[in-house]
Amino acid sequence: MKLSKLAVFRHSLPVKGGGYRMANAFVESLESTIVRLESACGLVGWGETCPVGPTYAPAHAAGAQAALITMAPGLMGAALDEPLLLQRRMDSLLNGHHYAKAAIDMAAYDIVGKKLNCPAGHLLGGAMADRIPSYYASPVGSPDDTARLAEEKAREGYPRMQVKISGRPVEIDIECVTKVWERIGGRMRLAVDGNRGLTTRDALLLSNSCKHIPFIFEQPCDSIDEIAAIRNQLHHPVYLDEGATDLATVIGAIGRGLVDGFGMKLTRIGGLTQMARFRDVCESRQLPHTVDDAWGGDIIAAACVQVGATVAPRLFEGTWLAQPYIEGHYDADGGIVIEKGHIEVPKTPGLGISPEESVFSDEIARFS
Ligand SMILES: [Mg+2]
Repeated sequence: MKLSKLAVFRHSLPVKGGGYRMANAFVESLESTIVRLESACGLVGWGETCPVGPTYAPAHAAGAQAALITMAPGLMGAALDEPLLLQRRMDSLLNGHHYAKAAIDMAAYDIVGKKLNCPAGHLLGGAMADRIPSYYASPVGSPDDTARLAEEKAREGYPRMQVKISGRPVEIDIECVTKVWERIGGRMRLAVDGNRGLTTRDALLLSNSCKHIPFIFEQPCDSIDEIAAIRNQLHHPVYLDEGATDLATVIGAIGRGLVDGFGMKLTRIGGLTQMARFRDVCESRQLPHTVDDAWGGDIIAAACVQVGATVAPRLFEGTWLAQPYIEGHYDADGGIVIEKGHIEVPKTPGLGISPEESVFSDEIARFS
């Protein structure tokens, strides 16, 4: 199970309908980075990393590609069936850049699963579900449009809605959250995501004004210190997302009592190996969390679903996928889809999808 070939591809994922607005960014098309690993025994595994543009996180497509190209020569010959050693080898070649390392980790699980004829979820401890919940994230939009969208998603069967806010006067955010709640009542769980964009003043104003609405408040402010400063004055449970940059930060935030849960991104934390550790830390403190990613196609989606299926259902907040926002699939027959707000967990070996290689035509580097 030694790595014998590694190729890196660029792949463009245009956003359906022209674009997606968040607190700090508007994205029209995302550049995904695809990794194809081949073992000495001829098995192929796929990995992917796709930051939502260059401002959502300290990660960007060109950075992922440079990191992969930097590590690749030193990874040749690495044992793909030893995820811990593979991670340490990557760390010995490059400091940080979890989001690039995640693509290698993901592809290694794909290959090992294929070799052992089992889904990656089995390698991560075992799947608890055949079908997992998703959640819908609205773009930052007008209060009326967002409330209409929430109604539509409740009817589709989504168990949870995340309302994106910020980047505008907080009074509009308050109106938006209120209108969504008036429209959906208790039919969906509600998260309100500030995407780091609120001042502590506005986070407090929103929480005070919407005291009666049972939502979780996701990453309202930019830094953990800002959130810590207002934590005890908020009326809502707080989840960290962007601020939970690695396992050490997660453990620190839990230890300080700053969080009630997490929105966790598979590539931000470094791939399936790290996500499984994060899952176990959360379970040990009874903290709910999502398992998703910032953006990406079928490969990231499949990896998220594999690990999502292993999370204790009572702590699982679902898997957000970019699939409803992008056209087409890497795997035309077995691509990951959301149906009635839920996702079937693939049973086939590895990540559970088979990308058509011809989809990835822009190869930027190859090593052997
Ligand atoms: Mg978030």
